[in-house]
Amino acid sequence: MKGAQCLVLSALCWALSVGQTSGPDWRAVEEETMRHYQALLRLDTSNPPGNETRATTYIKELFDKEGIPAQVFGSDPARVNVVARLKGNGRKRPLLIMGHTDVVTVDPAKWKFPPFSATRDGGYVYGRGAVDDKDNLTAALMTMLMLKRNNVPLDRDVIFVAEAGEEGSTSIGIDYFVKEHLPEIEAEYCLAEGGGVTRKGGSVAYATVQTLEKVPRRIELVAGGVAGHGSVPLKTNPVVHIAGAVARVGEWRPPIRLNETTAAYFKRLAEISPPEIAKHYRDVLSTDPAVQKAADDWLFENEPRHSSMLRTSASPNILNGGYRFNVIPSQATATVDVRLLPDENQEAFLEQVKKIVNDPAVEVRYPAAASRGAGVEARLDSEAFKAIEASIKRVYDTVTVPTMSTGATDMAQLRAKGVQCFGIGPATDMEDGPKGFGAHSDQERLLETELHRFVRFNWDIVTSLARSAR
Ligand SMILES: [Zn+2]
Repeated sequence: MKGAQCLVLSALCWALSVGQTSGPDWRAVEEETMRHYQALLRLDTSNPPGNETRATTYIKELFDKEGIPAQVFGSDPARVNVVARLKGNGRKRPLLIMGHTDVVTVDPAKWKFPPFSATRDGGYVYGRGAVDDKDNLTAALMTMLMLKRNNVPLDRDVIFVAEAGEEGSTSIGIDYFVKEHLPEIEAEYCLAEGGGVTRKGGSVAYATVQTLEKVPRRIELVAGGVAGHGSVPLKTNPVVHIAGAVARVGEWRPPIRLNETTAAYFKRLAEISPPEIAKHYRDVLSTDPAVQKAADDWLFENEPRHSSMLRTSASPNILNGGYRFNVIPSQATATVDVRLLPDENQEAFLEQVKKIVNDPAVEVRYPAAASRGAGVEARLDSEAFKAIEASIKRVYDTVTVPTMSTGATDMAQLRAKGVQCFGIGPATDMEDGPKGFGAHSDQERLLETELHRFVRFNWDIVTSLARSAR
């Protein structure tokens, strides 16, 4: 079946098309998915301390049994990572699928079901890591098993990585990999966490794919002067100078600069939003500076994350100065959290901040060298993005919205090495996060049906990107 019929019967066509050559038995796949998902959720890999080797051992033994070549790497025996590779014919460069094995810590008193019980209740699976990130981990794992068992011929290697330490200890995870074992994980494309499918009122509204992220860097403001008695106010008082500098930086909104991802993001978001909100998303793309400014003002007040996506942002978050009420100190400092657009010229930006501070008594500097480059943007015209978008249409029958995250993820290190990375995730109810069931919440859960759909989604993307045409 094809063409118009396929539009009407997209789910059926999808089932037929993915069933054609390699045909996983989906009922058996679902039973096995649940088994591995629950097994992984039951391993306590709270970070700190992590103990990710528990999960690594489970995965490594499974791959060994299936004949999937896998290696274990790590700098701490309790916190190792696993890499597995299914070889392709080399026509295309590898595809990396990645999930992290650690989870954030829990307060068991807040959980209805024990956080490492993986209890099934009312169509959900409850457990720490249910949506961060044992969902991606399980989907990637199942994809490897299905590729191997169905003997799927591949145009490119498919590499699986289960990484430790994503939740704040990257030195034993992604940083270690990039430094010590880059050849083992180097790929053209990478799929990891960071996107997701949003359901509203029980039905799918849209899907996000993270294609880009901002680059975090700190700026330090330092004012110095001669210490003195508080009874004699001084023109050089560093507290006064730093306070003025902080106020000016805080009030400043750096110029708007859109990129391929954010332009597509606001355009597509406008298409699926109520008219009164959509207007602001459209206006922010306007070439008329006044129209754009009004939309930015609205976003800054009502949707600050969206305002941050428009620009390199600067938020002064630490202020230090003085220690006694009657002493004028000799120094006062402030730290500004800067989130740079990936293509920002970092030195030029520092000069802009100096102009805004506009006070020769305040030194403006980066306290540390740049820790990493911005890396490559995942292109929207790439084979991978097109394949993901087509899979979203087939599996979720919804629109794809590319996103740039304002925070940093583990994909940054891979992007810095030239890998185009895409963040994906399962469908969750928009209403579930505010109820306290999201990532890092007091409780965490995922709908069973959405876990299974996510496995099919992963399989669909990976086979469209890697399977050889026969
Ligand atoms: Zn995560």
